Amino acid sequence: MPFDSLGLAPALVQAAAESGYAAPTAIQAAAIPAILQGRDVRGSAQTGSGKTAAFSLPLLQRLSSERAAQAEGPRRVRALVLVPTRELAAQVGETLRSLAQHLPERLKIVVAFGGVSINPQMMGLRGGADIVVATPGRLLDLVEHNALRLAAVSTLVLDEADRLFDLGFAEELGRILALLPAKRQNLLFSATFPPAIQALADGMLHEPAVIDVQGEPGTEPNIVQRVIEVDAIRRTQLLRHLLKQHEGEWDRVLVFVATQHAAQIVAEKLYKNGIYAVPFHGDIAQGTRTDILSQFKQSRWDVVIATDLAARGIDIAQLPVVINYDLPRSPTDYIHRIGRTGRAGESGLAISFVSASTEAHFQLIEKRQGLSLPRERIEGFEPTEVAVPVTDASGTGGVKGKRPSKKDKLRAAAKAAQAGGDNNGNDGGL
Ligand code: AMP
Repeated sequence: MPFDSLGLAPALVQAAAESGYAAPTAIQAAAIPAILQGRDVRGSAQTGSGKTAAFSLPLLQRLSSERAAQAEGPRRVRALVLVPTRELAAQVGETLRSLAQHLPERLKIVVAFGGVSINPQMMGLRGGADIVVATPGRLLDLVEHNALRLAAVSTLVLDEADRLFDLGFAEELGRILALLPAKRQNLLFSATFPPAIQALADGMLHEPAVIDVQGEPGTEPNIVQRVIEVDAIRRTQLLRHLLKQHEGEWDRVLVFVATQHAAQIVAEKLYKNGIYAVPFHGDIAQGTRTDILSQFKQSRWDVVIATDLAARGIDIAQLPVVINYDLPRSPTDYIHRIGRTGRAGESGLAISFVSASTEAHFQLIEKRQGLSLPRERIEGFEPTEVAVPVTDASGTGGVKGKRPSKKDKLRAAAKAAQAGGDNNGNDGGL
């Protein structure tokens, strides 16, 4: 099915073609017509499957035709796109601008996120804007500075919606929703909608088109998942070994760790060993964060050691390998992390390091995905640790006579996530 059969304006079809989009992806084919009809949408589709364009194209179409009808009117923010991280805000803004480039009516798209001076963003909002793409905290700051009003928003997009409903954002999201007109179009997109979040999400949708193209033939991301057993203490050495072994083949590698501290330490160790590795987390200044990501995309860095800050939405073309040095705290995070590879139909490889104490947690991740992956051992790195029996239901091992139930394990994982450091909260996303 070609793009022009979806009811999109020729200028948007042309921009899609110039972006290299030959045909709509499954989520685009399903969501674009529903959005053009003005319906609320809850859309889930695999990581890297074109969700941004799925909401951007119809949004631009409507705003552009409204602008044509009212060319002389003041610019009022008619579409608000909320995202959980600064990097994603910049990325979505770029996609919108690039897809809007041939529209006959110029639409003003303003991107706003924290960690950088608010003044240029306030200046950017002078004279109004058609679309604002923002992280929640900075958006509220701008509202408090009277830099923008949200009373005319007719479409709200929540990208990575389940993350925005998480505890870390719930309060800010509530405050933002209270500033929006009650009558509006709501578009919620993510690769994952855990059941509890789904109920929250559905509470704000009005007769939505529920689009779930996960699992449709041909839509699965092409990601090979491997699991390597290794003692926790030897993971950096194993990482180094793998990077050296695959030099020239793995030209870019994204490694996930659990804390900012671990990101620093692992990156330093690799760097000292001649590997171009750099840490990426919420405690790094925003300018540096932006530079690291763009330099990674330009192959200036070979390896980025990141917290879950990099797990959501970030689109790095030709990222062949993602490594879970530390396991993610939830099966949902696992899906997002590995989804940084194998994007837009490319193939990818996701490797997870598992040790005696994390094996039970990985089994939960596998179970949630209906997978059972073979465990591998690498010569010279065979594990020697054995699981330490625990007396509580922490899910890290079994105790004779009191094996933690699945619920216990999930509770323990949720508790660990709440207690966790930067891996848990916004990690500077605002
Ligand atoms: P997203 O899921 O929106 O982050 O998109 C993932 C990647 O797919 C991005 O690099 C997009 O440029 C690309 N993409 C989006 N739509 C299409 C399409 N119809 N055909 C090919 N690539 C696409």
